[in-house]
Amino acid sequence: MNETCPTCHFQPCCCHSLRIIRKRHEYLTRITDMNKLEEYFGITDTDYVRHSITLERTDLFDYILNIKRLNKYDPLAIYINGLPRDINNFIYSYLSVPNVIVKARIIIERGYPFVIPIWKILSFVKDGKRQDVDEETANVNCIMKNTSACMTIEKEILFYATTVLSYT
Ligand SMILES: [Zn+2]
Repeated sequence: MNETCPTCHFQPCCCHSLRIIRKRHEYLTRITDMNKLEEYFGITDTDYVRHSITLERTDLFDYILNIKRLNKYDPLAIYINGLPRDINNFIYSYLSVPNVIVKARIIIERGYPFVIPIWKILSFVKDGKRQDVDEETANVNCIMKNTSACMTIEKEILFYATTVLSYT
């Protein structure tokens, strides 16, 4: 069968995949604000670290994900006068975590959910320094290797976000 499906206009037909993607997408937009996924995940800010996770659907089969962790501590604001600089630096190193900004494309495969989505890291910046996107793409796809048809996209995002935010 090489004909284009009259309903979804894809060849081969993707009606089943599209139906599942739509259902899962509608569910996600109903339960959460896609611009504040960090709140849905319960990833809370602290006095000095702010988190942001946003997801945008850019196409029927495409999402763009942004994960940010921004340190807002000012070393000068916590500087304790009377203590040596080395000690102050030491204290600061405990209070501070590196800034992380990740932008990823999540490509939903036509055989979804039985074929798992492909992740592509578009940019990965840690404390202002660009990281190797190919390496992180391999890393995230390795993390997703154990995912399954019943894993929804937000669960995969939570899985990756906690990994990148905990170990980076
Ligand atoms: Zn179809």
